[in-house]
Amino acid sequence: MEAGIVGLPNVGKSTLFNALTCSRAAQSENYPFCTIEPNEGIVSVPDDRLSRITHYITPQKTIPAMLKLVDIAGIVKGASEGQGLGNKFLSHIRQVDAIVQVVRCFEDPDVTHVSGSVDPLSDIDTIETELMLADIQTLENSLAKAQRSARSGDKEAKLRVSAIEKCNEHLANDQPLRTLKLPEAEADAISSYGLMTAKPVLYVANVDENDLQGDDPLVRKVREYAESSGASVVCVCAKLEAEIAELEEPDRSEMLSDLGLTEPALNQIAREAYRTLGLQSYFTAGEKEVRAWPVPIGATAPQAAGVIHSDFERGFIRVEIYSLDDLENYKSEKEIRQAGKLRIEGKAYIMQDGDICHFLFNV
Ligand code: GDP
Repeated sequence: MEAGIVGLPNVGKSTLFNALTCSRAAQSENYPFCTIEPNEGIVSVPDDRLSRITHYITPQKTIPAMLKLVDIAGIVKGASEGQGLGNKFLSHIRQVDAIVQVVRCFEDPDVTHVSGSVDPLSDIDTIETELMLADIQTLENSLAKAQRSARSGDKEAKLRVSAIEKCNEHLANDQPLRTLKLPEAEADAISSYGLMTAKPVLYVANVDENDLQGDDPLVRKVREYAESSGASVVCVCAKLEAEIAELEEPDRSEMLSDLGLTEPALNQIAREAYRTLGLQSYFTAGEKEVRAWPVPIGATAPQAAGVIHSDFERGFIRVEIYSLDDLENYKSEKEIRQAGKLRIEGKAYIMQDGDICHFLFNV
């Protein structure tokens, strides 16, 4: 599962990507199109449940869940017709599972705005329009073939045709596909199209350093828009976060407390991006390692085991599970077991956020 950072040029994407991934690979320049090749980075997802577990189980190492982030070059008006870097980055967006869209809410006369003024809603609209146009093209390119196959009796193709027609109507009403509920079979039939406006979105409002709480009217508008389209918003000052990310402790904590923050806003972005990807965490906890593992919401126990290793999914027998509350009540796994609180779950079990697991499997 991966998320792609998108946004107009000069909104702070690379600054944010660098701070999030601490990679210096992505260039950050006050220059449109500086990020030509998509850059990938790994972001750890901070989770205070890990330290609550390691309070009782002391491991050699503690490993948070990770997510993959792709820095996708700035979209401009006309991208769907090949303007800017055009189709090249649209194809990168097609491959990601969720979109993190950075919108510029900060004023800075030294940083050029591509359309001349800071207007996050218009920026959101520009990008949404390009992605909608690209989706319309994708659907158009697929329709004739699907219709031909449907006419010759292909059931799957019939589902595709029906889905394409519904999508076209929705897009013609200027609505992104993420607000369209298709029957599951139809959604599955067109899942390989990588329709971009169907992907979940997280908006990151890049604010001025004197408005870290996001009280600015521009940010409020972004929040209202996000709420109406089922997306979330995180406020961040990318420039400041980049500075915080470079500091070592205790300077880092000191700077955060001077700014009135309890943690870097980057942590919130990582957690929200994780949630936007539809992921939750389960834990494995032993003396060697305490670790958070990402698993899609609704996944079964064997699928969760498969995140660790595909052999674990194939050879899955059962899983022993306890909760963090149990650990905090009974203080050790042994006591939990003795109190009869260790649950045994089988193949059909749907994983719950925060389960602490021991998988038993055949190899
Ligand atoms: P990208 O084109 O969206 O990747 O934007 P960059 O990350 O390269 O940023 C463009 C310019 O804006 C750089 O000069 C950054 O230093 C500056 N910038 C980024 N974030 C902020 C911010 O929060 N405040 C201010 N004032 N400048 C920023």
